[in-house]
Amino acid sequence: MAIRSRFDTHDVFNQPPPYENVDLFSSDVPLQEAVCANRAGEDASVLSDFGNRWGTAEMFALGRLANENPPRLHAFDARGYRRDTVEFHPAYHEFMRESVAAGLHASTWTARGERAAAPAEVTRAARFYMAAQVETGHLCPITMTRAALAALAAEPSLAGIVVAKTVTRNYDPLFRPWQDKSGMTLGMGMTEKQGGTDVRANTTTATPAGSFYSIIGHKWFLSAPMSDAFLVLAQAPGGLTCFLVPRFRDDGSVNGLRFQRLKDKLGNRSNASSEVEFTDAFAWRVGEEGAGIRTILQMVQLTRLDCAIASAGLMRMALAQAVHHCRNRSVFGKPLYDQPMMRAVLADMALDVEAAVAFVFRVARAHDRAAHDPNEAAYARVMTPAAKYWICKLAPGFIFEAMECLGGNGYVEESVLPRLYREAPVNAIWEGSGNVMCLDVLRALKRPEEAALAAALARAAGVDGADMESTSEADARIKVGRVAVLACAAALQASAPPAVAETFIRTRLMTGHGAHYGAAASIAVATTELLLQRVLPDA
Ligand SMILES: Cc1cc2nc3c(=O)[nH]c(=O)nc-3n(C[C@H](O)[C@H](O)[C@H](O)COP(=O)(O)OP(=O)(O)OC[C@H]3O[C@@H](n4cnc5c(N)ncnc54)[C@H](O)[C@@H]3O)c2cc1C
Repeated sequence: MAIRSRFDTHDVFNQPPPYENVDLFSSDVPLQEAVCANRAGEDASVLSDFGNRWGTAEMFALGRLANENPPRLHAFDARGYRRDTVEFHPAYHEFMRESVAAGLHASTWTARGERAAAPAEVTRAARFYMAAQVETGHLCPITMTRAALAALAAEPSLAGIVVAKTVTRNYDPLFRPWQDKSGMTLGMGMTEKQGGTDVRANTTTATPAGSFYSIIGHKWFLSAPMSDAFLVLAQAPGGLTCFLVPRFRDDGSVNGLRFQRLKDKLGNRSNASSEVEFTDAFAWRVGEEGAGIRTILQMVQLTRLDCAIASAGLMRMALAQAVHHCRNRSVFGKPLYDQPMMRAVLADMALDVEAAVAFVFRVARAHDRAAHDPNEAAYARVMTPAAKYWICKLAPGFIFEAMECLGGNGYVEESVLPRLYREAPVNAIWEGSGNVMCLDVLRALKRPEEAALAAALARAAGVDGADMESTSEADARIKVGRVAVLACAAALQASAPPAVAETFIRTRLMTGHGAHYGAAASIAVATTELLLQRVLPDA
C-alpha cells in the first residue's frame, strides 16, 4: 500500500512502507521447513514468539541505535589510574539481555556442561538466524560464550563452576568478579600482531605460579572486552596452551588486562574489538600444556557454525527487504515485482537463500547428533568449515545485489542495507578466513568416512563426483565450493519442494552460474512465483 503524505511542493507516494512488525519466523517459509526437516518442528510456536518479538519496530530501532552509538574505551580515570573498561550504549545491553534471556549464549548446554538433547542446536540456530537479521554486533560475545563452553570441557573442575554461572538466563553487565554475578559471558583471544591463522607463532607467555599461571604478552584482536573471562592461547613451558583469563583475579582485584585501543571497524560497530596487553595476568590452565590448539578447536568449530548461520540471516534480511520493496514500488506503471528481469534477479537470489538456510540447518542437526552417530560427526566435521566458506563468502555480494533492488534508497543508511553490507565480510574473515576453511575441508576429506560422504552427495544430486579425489591446495576453493553446493542440493532435497531443489541443482551444478544474479539459466515461471512467495507470502 502506498503511503500518501502532503508537502508544500509535492505529494509523497510510491514509497514502500517500512519492513517492520513482522514475525521473522512465520513469514519465512524456507526457515520453517528447514526447522521441521531437521527435527525441531515441535518448537515452531516458541520460535514464532521469538520471531514476533525480534521483528518489532522497537527491535529494529534498537539495532540502529546500537550501531549509531559505538562503544567507547575508558583506558584511564580522571586521576590517571587504569580503568580498562568499555562503555556500551543501552541498546547494546538490551540486545544482550534479550539474547541471553532466550538462551542464545548457552541453550545447547546443560548446567553440568553436557550437550543439551536434540534438537537444541537446530532450535538455537533458528533463533540465532532471526537475531542476526536485526543486530549482529552483540552476537559476537553471544556466540563466543556458547562456544567457549566446548573448550572448557577439557578442564572439568573449572568447567563445573563456569558453566553453572553461564547457563543462567541472566545478563549481568556490571564490572565485578564473575563469582559475584548472576550470569557471565566469555570471549576469546588467539590472534597476535604477527599472525592470526598461524597461532603457533604466538609469543604471549604463560609462567606457572602455583595453582595458576601468569600471562605476559598481547592479543591484536580481543572482541567483547567486557566479557567476564577469555579463553587465551599462550606459550607455557610445555608448548602452546589454552587458558581462562578472568577480568578479576581470585583475590577480587582487577586482573592485568590493559586495553590499548578499540578497532575502528568497517562494520560490527555495536560490538567492541580491542587490542590488549596482558601484564602478569592471572590465568587458569584449560587442558594439558601443549594441547592449546586441540583444546580451543572445540570452541572454534561452533563459532564457525554461527558465522554461517549469521551470514544466512543477513542474506535473508537483505532478500526480504528487496522483495518487500519491489512489491511496493512501481516503475513504468507496473510494480517492480512484476517486471520480468527483476523477477529473474529476485528468484535467483531466493535460490541462494533457500540453499544457505537448508544447508546451515542441516549442519546444525549434525551437531545435534554428532556425539551418537559417526556419520553425523563426519558430516559436521566436513560441512561446518564448508558452510562457513560458502555462505560467508556469498553474503557480501548477495547483499549488494539486494541493495541495488532498492535503488538509491538501498544505499542510504535508514534502509538497513548498508549496515547488513558492512556487517557481512567479518563472518568470512574471522575464525578462519576463506582459504583456511578450504584447507580445513581438504584435511577432513582425507579421512575415508568424510571422502565417502562427499561422493555420496554427488551421486544423490546426479552429478559427477570425480573431482572429489583432488587434494591440490591450489584447487581447494573449486573443490570446497563444489562440496558445499552438493551439500546444499542434498539439504534442499530433504527440506524444500522438489522444484526448488531441482532448479538449484540445474542452475548451480549442471550449468555454470554466472557472476551475477538473474544471469544464470532461466528459472521456470511457476518456480519463480513459488520462490518469491516463499520469501514473503503475499499479504
Ligand atoms: C571484527 C573482528 C573481530 C575479531 N575478533 C577476534 C577475537 O575476539 N579473538 C581473536 O583471537 N581474533 C579475532 N579476530 C581476528 C581474526 O580471527 C583474524 O584476523 C583471522 O583469524 C585472520 O588472521 P590474520 O588477520 O592474522 O590474517 P593472516 O593469518 O595473516 O591471514 C591472511 C590471509 O591469508 C590466508 N591464509 C592463511 N594461511 C594460508 C595458507 N596456508 N594458504 C593460503 N592462504 C592462507 C587467510 O585465509 C587470510 O585470507 C577478529 C577479527 C575481526 C576482523
